[in-house]
Amino acid sequence: MKIAIVGSGPSGFYAADSLLNAEAGFSVDMFEKLPVPFGLVRSGVAPDHPKLKSVISQYEEVASNEAFRFFGNVNIGVDITVDELSEAYSAVIIASGAQADRALGIPGEHLSGSHSARSFVNWYNGHPDFRHETFNLSSEVAVIVGMGNVAMDVARILLKPVDELRTTDIADHALQALADSKVKEVHIIGRRGPAQMKISYKEMCEIATLKNCSVSVADNGLELSAACTAEIESRTNRENSFNLKLLEAQASKSSGDNTRQCIFHFLKRPEQLLGDTKVTGLQLGRNHLVGEAFSQSILESSVLEQIPCGLVFRSVGYKGLPMPGVDFNHDKHCITHSNGRVKPGLYCTGWIKRGPSGVIGTNRADSMETVASLLEDASGLAETDENAVNDLVEKLNRRVSKVVSFSDWQKIDATEKALGEKNFRPRQKLVSVDDMLGCL
Ligand code: NAP
Repeated sequence: MKIAIVGSGPSGFYAADSLLNAEAGFSVDMFEKLPVPFGLVRSGVAPDHPKLKSVISQYEEVASNEAFRFFGNVNIGVDITVDELSEAYSAVIIASGAQADRALGIPGEHLSGSHSARSFVNWYNGHPDFRHETFNLSSEVAVIVGMGNVAMDVARILLKPVDELRTTDIADHALQALADSKVKEVHIIGRRGPAQMKISYKEMCEIATLKNCSVSVADNGLELSAACTAEIESRTNRENSFNLKLLEAQASKSSGDNTRQCIFHFLKRPEQLLGDTKVTGLQLGRNHLVGEAFSQSILESSVLEQIPCGLVFRSVGYKGLPMPGVDFNHDKHCITHSNGRVKPGLYCTGWIKRGPSGVIGTNRADSMETVASLLEDASGLAETDENAVNDLVEKLNRRVSKVVSFSDWQKIDATEKALGEKNFRPRQKLVSVDDMLGCL
């Protein structure tokens, strides 16, 4: 049986791996919108986190299986529909990730200088769709709303000495812009307290050890209520208890000769982005937490403050987009499913299944669950119509300027690595589809 997988990020590759290792003898055709594979590992993982990218070697091993084929530069839903895939293949697995971001829903959100963290991350990682984005790094003060790991990535890229990024695979346009950056103060805003941060200790350590950068906490923000103390002492919240100790230690240090500052603000909600056409500041309101530990809710106070700034990043989570022909839960921004099964023959995995949570490895178990559902259904699935698959591939070749195979990707990969080698970088990313296709 041939299975089509839509999306070539971690969840797509883990699903392919599970299928190719199943006894049933599956083969896999993987479809990817970009000419280059690996989804968030290429476009989401920060350039200064090369170890996290080493999972690519596992995905390359999957791709080396004879029963695996890659079809890059194919936009499912545009070039070909999910229904067309379903007609040809025994089953389709959607692994398209979360391709949009949650909005704050406050006035001023669309002013110039207000950006989603997702667009900044894609921009510095050289995603072709974001290469023309511009960020006003001539502003000295930037504010990031949200206290998750993406917020930490954005803060670190803004505050890190640019020389430390020169040997990474960061996009050239981002390297140049960051070299000219005037940003020296980054404020990170959490609507809840230190016990409710969604930051890994490792990410917090990296912020705390940035060269020439002091870390502080505004307005005695580390004081904990009894309920928050109970939460932070819980064994399930160990990362935050370490984070808290680290912030306490940092906050007690003087800023010394540091030229850059990272300032954490707890219990503050974004109320409004200020400015006429461009962001000139962010208005915040104070929050309190009320209720029992682990079920506290936010009580908004009328105390307001403003942070003057020229740049605001909304880092409040990603969201999935519907795919034509697939049931979608518009409240959760995920595909409607049960254990990854949308209906027999149609499945989903990764962020489009469970929402934007977890780390890369979380997708392995998630994809295994989805493939287990597919295996349960396998005896009732239609045999693959090989002629229909061949027709579909021919149709694609007519509709798409160039369908990129895995060996084509390897040529793009080799070109990027060769370009990077000259400057002691792991690769110099090609950031336009034309340049990617130009190496073939
Ligand atoms: P996240 O972990 O869900 O964090 C989102 C943050 O935004 C939370 O602090 C949340 O606060 C806040 N927020 C949500 N709505 C808000 C609103 N309306 N106003 C103010 N604040 C709001 O999302 P993420 O940072 O985008 O990360 C996505 C996933 O990728 C996570 O699983 C993360 O661990 C992972 N990731 C991992 C790494 C790594 O391992 N190095 C790097 C990057 C990303 P509440 O908690 O109050 O909702």
